Amino acid sequence: MMNAQPDTPSATLNAYDPRYDPLVDAGPGHNRDYAPTYWIATAGTPPKDDGPITQDVDADVVVIGSGYTGLACAIFLAQEHGIKATVLEANCVSWGCSTRNGGQAQISSGRLKRSQWIKRWGLETARKMHAEVSEAFDVFRALILSGKFDCEPQRGGHLYIAHRPKAMSMLEAECRLLNETFSYKAEMLDAETLRREYVYDAEASGAMYEPDGIGVHAGKMAFGYLSLARELGATVHPSSPVMGWETHNGVHYLGTPGGTVRTRAVAIATGGYTPPGLHPRVKSRIMPILSNSIVTRPMSQEEKTACNFKTNLVLTDTRTLRHYYRQLPDDRVQIGSRSAITGADAENPKHLQLLLAGLYRKFPALKDIDVEYSWWGWVDVSHDMMPHIFQPDPSQAVYYAIGYGGNGVMYSAQAGRRMAQKIAGKGQELDLPIFTSPLPGHILAPFRRLGQRLLYRWYYLLDEVM
Ligand SMILES: Cc1cc2nc3c(=O)[nH]c(=O)nc-3n(C[C@H](O)[C@H](O)[C@H](O)COP(=O)(O)OP(=O)(O)OC[C@H]3O[C@@H](n4cnc5c(N)ncnc54)[C@H](O)[C@@H]3O)c2cc1C
Repeated sequence: MMNAQPDTPSATLNAYDPRYDPLVDAGPGHNRDYAPTYWIATAGTPPKDDGPITQDVDADVVVIGSGYTGLACAIFLAQEHGIKATVLEANCVSWGCSTRNGGQAQISSGRLKRSQWIKRWGLETARKMHAEVSEAFDVFRALILSGKFDCEPQRGGHLYIAHRPKAMSMLEAECRLLNETFSYKAEMLDAETLRREYVYDAEASGAMYEPDGIGVHAGKMAFGYLSLARELGATVHPSSPVMGWETHNGVHYLGTPGGTVRTRAVAIATGGYTPPGLHPRVKSRIMPILSNSIVTRPMSQEEKTACNFKTNLVLTDTRTLRHYYRQLPDDRVQIGSRSAITGADAENPKHLQLLLAGLYRKFPALKDIDVEYSWWGWVDVSHDMMPHIFQPDPSQAVYYAIGYGGNGVMYSAQAGRRMAQKIAGKGQELDLPIFTSPLPGHILAPFRRLGQRLLYRWYYLLDEVM
């Protein structure tokens, strides 16, 4: 696999480590190759980057992590505030979730639905949060449709598919709420209309249609963000993991293998790959959860007809540990869902089998289809299921934007923009809880995986049995 072409040569890549585990390993590695994803295989040669840090340097603002969040932060720092950031990445550019996801952009952020926002924060705040994600979708749309890069957008909306009859009442209530309380034009589709006009998902009992939804080529989008960030004056340094962090008199000294980067402001955009020792304010604030994804060979015309795959809309189902799936522009099917609990178990074939069983339940005609790509990645789930874009200590210019819970393709653009506003000292009017409160900790942090095992069993009963 090729690394991005640096302006200065970088060392040979280290092998991709499929067993990497953020709760066990000290960090995501150094100069590692990409995961073997469909996106990296088909994104073309990565654009130029700025090569690793090779000496001590000064920077106005450092962004740690070069996924969508880190690159969007660099883009908006330059575009809206005239600040040229220095982005440090441990491995290849956008090596984490941002080249491994399902490429589904939806009008949401975090794992909570509108009804759950109201329960948690009350109606007024929920309405403001809806306005925030609506603005975020506009920001995202403008960025990816600016003509500066092509990430093969599949436009038209999102179908939230009831995986069994019981789920329809929840969808109907959510649809009513969206229309009546948020003036958002969602629509219900019955099973017959869904199967006839969109796709024959054999287990579907109907769906809710949301007009905002775009499928993207995840790798081309990451590479587009990289090119745009550099064009605007940011520098992006792969193979430069931050392995040490000291602060003296307001100056941060970030140690990388090639040199120390000195700066007054640091933005943390390390998602589910956040190393436990990076900074005390993010320690144990995220629960990294593995999600896996496969891409099949292109469907034959017979297979396509049997599945009645008329739509390229992005699709998710109503399981708590949902499936996300769609038909790609080249007639392949992509589908993903939950995976192993630990990195050590990630290669266990049973996780792939579970995902394939999900594919066959939906599309029995695909039971013999070859799977050409299979991979996994660590999703950053926060303990309150929402992202936080926050400055944890007002006396220090340190910020983070983390915690999308598997829903960051769209919102990471706005989160990067919001973090840029805070860094530039223009974030005073951001008064939603996701901007004004820290990522909550967890009192039983060391036992979270035990809890996760129990929760997965409970979700299974909830989704399939009860
Ligand atoms: C399999 C999978 C499927 C998904 N599907 C969807 C989807 O369909 N829709 C959706 O909305 N979201 C999805 N997501 C989530 C989505 O991909 C992310 O929310 C989004 O990419 C934002 O990522 P990020 O930039 O915050 O973090 P990442 O892309 O994970 O980037 C973090 C980066 O930080 C780097 N890093 C960590 N520590 C250091 C350090 N010490 N020094 C330097 N660099 C460091 C890492 O190497 C990594 O590259 C999915 C995620 C996965 C794993």
